[in-house]
Amino acid sequence: MPLHHRDTVREEIESCIFASIELENELPKYRFPEAETRPDVAFQVVHDELLLDGNARQNLATFCQTWEEPQVHALMDMAIDKNLIDQDEYPQSAEIERRCVHMLADLWNAPDAANTVGTSAIGSSEAAMLAGMAALRRWRNKRKAEGKTIVQPNMVCGPVQVVWHKFARYWDVEIREIPMGPNQYCLTPEDVTARVDENTIFVVPTLGVTYTGIYEPVEALSQELDALQERTGLDIDIHVDGASGGFLAPFCAPDVQFDFRLPRVKSINASGHKFGLAPLGSGWVIWRDAKELPEELIFHVNYLGGDMPDFHINFSRPAGQIIAQYYNFIRLGRGGYRSIHDACYETGAYLAGEIPNLGPFELLASSDAATGIPAVTWRIAEGQEPGYTLFDLADRLRNRGWQVPAYTLTGGASDVAVQRVLVRQGVDRDLASLLLDDFKAAIDHFAKHPVSVGMTKEESGGFSHL
Ligand SMILES: *Cc1c(COP(=O)(O)O)cnc(C)c1O
Repeated sequence: MPLHHRDTVREEIESCIFASIELENELPKYRFPEAETRPDVAFQVVHDELLLDGNARQNLATFCQTWEEPQVHALMDMAIDKNLIDQDEYPQSAEIERRCVHMLADLWNAPDAANTVGTSAIGSSEAAMLAGMAALRRWRNKRKAEGKTIVQPNMVCGPVQVVWHKFARYWDVEIREIPMGPNQYCLTPEDVTARVDENTIFVVPTLGVTYTGIYEPVEALSQELDALQERTGLDIDIHVDGASGGFLAPFCAPDVQFDFRLPRVKSINASGHKFGLAPLGSGWVIWRDAKELPEELIFHVNYLGGDMPDFHINFSRPAGQIIAQYYNFIRLGRGGYRSIHDACYETGAYLAGEIPNLGPFELLASSDAATGIPAVTWRIAEGQEPGYTLFDLADRLRNRGWQVPAYTLTGGASDVAVQRVLVRQGVDRDLASLLLDDFKAAIDHFAKHPVSVGMTKEESGGFSHL
């Protein structure tokens, strides 16, 4: 967070961050320097600061892309001055965005993919907000048309990513999040139908739950909601948070029906910068058909020339990652995506095969294309006390640059600590075997130097899921 503690800033305000023969003047950290600095010197300063960041390729916590083809770098450079909002000035970038929307609508089996609506966003978070706003508006319009009162709206979901908590709080929607149970890590259709009512704007299953990578059962949920409608008349929409799975299942598990093949699914979001393989800053939301996005949410802007339909939270935003996304689509095709992701599942399966042999570990979820994303999640088997925690293990692996997060689950499972590796493009078999070597070394180390056990969540520090 760029919200520094002001007292700290004041104390450090004069301190110099760099000095060299070229740099005679001090460069203060927290206020503007008085004079200019030579570009090569300023570059060196910034470059050196960044040495302290982690090495992205060894970050096995993130779902986001950390490797791109050289052609993507070239396109990103070319696009640095292109503003995606300005469709009048950059009509071809806008056309490329539209093509991506229809390609995704087709990938997700929209009944009329060439005519449906959707948009790029800066990530799944913005995309999810847009989908949520559309659902809220549809619900309001329906209530008004029926002459019913508009009271506190709600949404129902399993253990969701933080974006849905944000959506609920920012737009004042009650979130009915089904808590995890001791051995239940995602929603069940019955949990959902027990919680919906006439003020439910939608149900949000996740394709690739953040904590475990597991796919929530969208098809079974849809059937259960069909049965509910028959019984009670309640007609509840589904929005699928396919941040990861939206770019995995269509290629690697096409029989998983999570998409517009189910008429109840009205919108889907996915992160282009996760398994869509685009560089950071790419997300998508697609509606089943144009009528699911209430027209009054779309602004028409004329001050950039021409008529520009705009339904985003951001206005100006970079076009590069969308152009790179299109490059990926045409460069890889379905076959290319399938082989890259299949390789990730294989590497995941390899890790899932090895990790339980290294210590008293028990897998919670592992890398199977029909049931989840290429991730391996494990815990210390119940009743085992190896003399270290998963937080210690995470810490020890960090010494070698690996970021393998340990964190606790939520709800009724919040006493369970787990550790997770996310396998994505660039986390290949070789890198995975190097990780396992360091994993073994860490466990050998703990055998010789036992550490304190029973660390609390607070002591271990939180962990962010990206
Ligand atoms: C990553 C993720 C998000 C947020 O997506 P961003 O692209 O990081 O904004 C939302 N939901 C799920 C399930 C995710 O995995």
